[in-house]
Amino acid sequence: MVADRDIALNLRAGKERIASCGCGGLKVTLRGEPADVYVCSCQDCQRRSGGAFTYAAIFPEPNVTVTGEYRSWRRNGEAGRWIENSFCPDCGVAVFFHSEAMPGLIGIPVGCLSESEFPRPARHYWSSRKHHWLELPADILLIDTQ
Ligand SMILES: [Zn+2]
Ligand SMILES: [Zn+2]
Repeated sequence: MVADRDIALNLRAGKERIASCGCGGLKVTLRGEPADVYVCSCQDCQRRSGGAFTYAAIFPEPNVTVTGEYRSWRRNGEAGRWIENSFCPDCGVAVFFHSEAMPGLIGIPVGCLSESEFPRPARHYWSSRKHHWLELPADILLIDTQ
């Protein structure tokens, strides 16, 4: 049964997006616009993504629906608080994460959305760890740590 409250949230939130793992078994439906968008060059983000930084969007938990099986693992971030990544048990792609630093919110790796027009990041965390060749647009705020 869909509660009236959920319908009201959907209507107010407007746009819907779906983040997906590699095999399609795990999907996350996102309603409305992200509360925050950032990139992060901390060592954990580099290791987790296999790239020079992660590009993430933050949504309020009530605007998010997870469909499919997933497993989660929790690690301590460089700022000393836990971050929990949830991934598809079949293909291993992480599709969402939670963080001790952001209660009530859920993070989505933007690459899981296949949407090249997605809003740009506002901040670059751990810019002190960025690879030497990486230059981001000047209006993205650089933050040395977190
Ligand atoms: Zn998968
Ligand atoms: Zn990071």
